[in-house]
Formats: sequence, structure tokens, C-alpha cells
Amino acid sequence: MASIGFIGLGRMGHAMSRQLIGAGHEVTVYDLNPAAVENIAAAGGHAAGSAATAAAARDFVVTMLPNGPDVEEVLFGAPGVAAAMTTDTLYIDMSTIAPEVTDRIAARLAGLGLAMVDAPVGGTSEFAERGELLILAGGAEADVTRAMPVFDAVGRETIYCGETGSGTRTKIVNNFMSTALNVLTAETLAFAEAAGLDVQRTVKVLSGTTAGKGFLTGAYARKIFAGDISPEFGLGLAAKDLTLALTYAAGLNVPLGVGAAASQVYQMSKAEGFGGSDWSALLETLRRRAALPGQSFV
Ligand code: NAD
Repeated sequence: MASIGFIGLGRMGHAMSRQLIGAGHEVTVYDLNPAAVENIAAAGGHAAGSAATAAAARDFVVTMLPNGPDVEEVLFGAPGVAAAMTTDTLYIDMSTIAPEVTDRIAARLAGLGLAMVDAPVGGTSEFAERGELLILAGGAEADVTRAMPVFDAVGRETIYCGETGSGTRTKIVNNFMSTALNVLTAETLAFAEAAGLDVQRTVKVLSGTTAGKGFLTGAYARKIFAGDISPEFGLGLAAKDLTLALTYAAGLNVPLGVGAAASQVYQMSKAEGFGGSDWSALLETLRRRAALPGQSFV
């Protein structure tokens, strides 16, 4: 069993440290909130008076803090966790923070001879309570393998995302899609209601179409990544359908901001000559705007 310093006992951290204790690890905890520390001490953990004390001479140090500045403060403030760890300690940051901050921290720790894995999580505090988080791990493969006893205690699945910083980047990209889809979903249901539809029935219909099921496991795997933009559904026809929806919704006074932004991308793509291509060719228009090298479909 491992000795673990765990810093940050909020909604996620308190549940995760309990899972680690339940798995038989020796867990020493710290949080700015003394009540949170006492809580975990009462559940079989050890209370530390500072983050540095929690981190001293441990096999693993885990941080689960709100944001990048909190993680940097805990690591490099005084007395800092970085100075308390030894080169035998593996540092694991499970907070969701900016990729640039993860890179900066990893470089600074590497300069001290300290290894780091960035491992933000998917799933809410309810998942944390059940030890069923999804862990997106970035770092040297050997370090991620070494961290598995920690990940196995708090998660249902660990996905190796690549070198240090890849876990954080994967999490940010995933959350971009889910947070934007959340707005698109709300726009769609408000539109359905304003159009006089039974919204529950609409949800049932949309759950079985590409709208609800998504593109990633269907069109993208089959078309773009195979280098095929021959039209299964033409981009020009998709643009026409979107315009029909936006025009109708405008008459019903339903604001469809994500839909309007999407319409701009369709116009750009048509102007680039993709009107007769498959509607998945929008990806190529955005890749060009981002100046990504090569073509997605060659
Ligand atoms: P939270 O605000 O509930 O907890 C953060 C804890 O960190 C608090 O207990 C706070 O006292 C402590 N803290 C802050 N600064 C500190 C410092 N300098 N030293 C010691 N302790 C300090 O946040 P949370 O919901 O547990 O989320 C933690 C991280 O996990 C965030 O990055 C969040 O984005 C991410 N996350 C949260 C969820 C969720 O459902 N709550 C899901 C996935 C990822």
C-alpha cells in the first residue's frame, strides 16, 4: 500500500481521499478548511497542518484544487509542496486547469528532478463518491503506470492521453464539446417548444437521429478520417436546412446564437467551394482557419 499526500478536500477531493483510504492506502490530507481535514482524519486519514507537511516523504502527492493559480501556490508558495517532495515522490495533479499552467508546472518540477502526471477527471462528485471517475492521464507512460494504484482507487477507467499536459488538453477539448452542446441542446428544445411541439416526443425522436447520437462514431469515422468528402449529405443542402430553421425560429422570437454561429461556418465552407461536398467537410474549413498543416481528408 502506498503513502499518499492529498491536498484539496472539496466536493471531489473529500470523496477521492475517502476512496484511497478505503483501498488501504496511508493518506495524509490538507485543505485550507480545517473542518474538511478533520472530516477525513475521522474517516481514517491523517491530518496535516500544511500542504508541505502532507507532501513530505510520500510515494504520491495528489492535488485536487479549484484552478491553476491554486495549484501553483500550493506547489511553489511558502512552504511549498515542491520543496517537500523527494525525487521518489510522484506528483499527480487531478484538478482541471489551463494547459499552459500544467506545462509551466511540469517544467519547473522537472528542473527539480520531480516527475508529474496530469490527470484531470471526468464525472461529477457523485461519481467520485462511488470511486467511478474517468481519469485522463498525461505523462511518461512509466509514471502513469506507477500512478495506477491511485487511479484504480478513485476511478472506473484510466485513459492514457500522451505526454505530460495531454490529460489536461483532452479534458479541455472534451469539456468544450460538452459545454457548447449543452447550449445547442437548450436552443433546440426551446425552439421545439416555441414551434408548438410536444418536447418529450421531440427528445425521443432526436435521441435516435444524428442530432442526438452525434457525429463522432458515425460520419467522422466513416468519411473524414477515410479521406472521403463525396456527399452522403451535401453541405449546401445542410446549409439550406439550417437557414430554414433559423428563419422559422426568428419568426417565433427564439434566439439561436449557436445556430447562427454555425450558419457562418457553413457560408465560409460554401465560399471555399465545399458546397457540393459532404457536410462533414466543414472540418476542413476550420482546419484551414487554424492553419493546420496538410488536409484532413487526403
Ligand atoms: P471545490 O471548490 O469543492 O474544492 C476545492 C477545495 O480546495 C476546497 O476545499 C478548498 O478549501 C481547497 N483549496 C483551495 N485552495 C487551497 C490551498 N491553497 N490549499 C489547500 N486547499 C485549498 O472544488 P471541486 O468541485 O472539488 O473541484 C476540484 C477540481 O476538480 C476543480 O479543478 C474542478 O474543475 C474539477 N472537477 C470538478 C468536478 C465536480 O463535479 N465538482 C468534476 C470534474 C472535475
